Amino acid sequence: MEYYNTKNFQEKCRNFGICLSDEQIGKFIEYYKLLSEWNSFMNLTAITDFDEVILKHFVDSLAIYQAEIFQKTLNQKKIEISLIDVGTGAGFPGIPLKIVFEDLQIILLDSLNKRVNFLNTVIERLELKNIKAVHGRAEDFARHENHREQYDFCVSRAVANLSTLTELCIPFVKKNGYFISYKSEKVKEELSAGEKALDILGGKIEDILEYQLPDSDISRSLLLIKKEKNTPKKYPRKAGTPAKEPLGGKI
Ligand code: SAM
Repeated sequence: MEYYNTKNFQEKCRNFGICLSDEQIGKFIEYYKLLSEWNSFMNLTAITDFDEVILKHFVDSLAIYQAEIFQKTLNQKKIEISLIDVGTGAGFPGIPLKIVFEDLQIILLDSLNKRVNFLNTVIERLELKNIKAVHGRAEDFARHENHREQYDFCVSRAVANLSTLTELCIPFVKKNGYFISYKSEKVKEELSAGEKALDILGGKIEDILEYQLPDSDISRSLLLIKKEKNTPKKYPRKAGTPAKEPLGGKI
């Protein structure tokens, strides 16, 4: 049986205030195995080395726990907290969030059905509860009453530039909820166009958390965007338009 050294993983998580149980570690290893297996016959991730997957996918996904609003909302424990991960791909950040924060009600959304099939296998094998992988485009799903303005949090990583992304994500968020965007250090270039789009869609940047992945020189940002007003009904525009004609203009 293969041995995986997870000591570093636990230490890196502690940097964010997260303490992983043995059961959670076991689920991450199983997830890594499935990722490697499926990656051999379909395109899921370019990162395959165990330690690299831990840092750049697992730890990176969990970095959201640094955001006070996320931590505070989760720790209330009184109500069900809903979260949608738009363009989840192989499940980042949604699956790591589910493994660690079991009480979250999670929807994983992706426009590529092959990836959704992979996610359904992960959900089944890891015996994850209150999480569903769905196939579709954000532009279509956000118009459906079961999804529009229904979520406490929308998260998204590596899907589009901020101007396009806000049109895909903000419509899902309840008034006073948050869209939290995982971005690289280059986010500043996207801010001005992104803010224009946010103004139209009812969101406002409340904070930008800049940090480095633990024990590395990899810089990341989390954009905390609060939904202050309902999104006008005409958004999102039809599938493909938010990318072709971003609301804040092209950068
Ligand atoms: N979030 C994952 C990560 O960080 O590894 C995946 C990133 S991958 C580069 C982008 C994913 O977004 C792809 O799986 C793609 O199918 C999905 N995607 C792109 N546009 C989308 C849309 N309009 N609606 C839903 N999913 C979309």
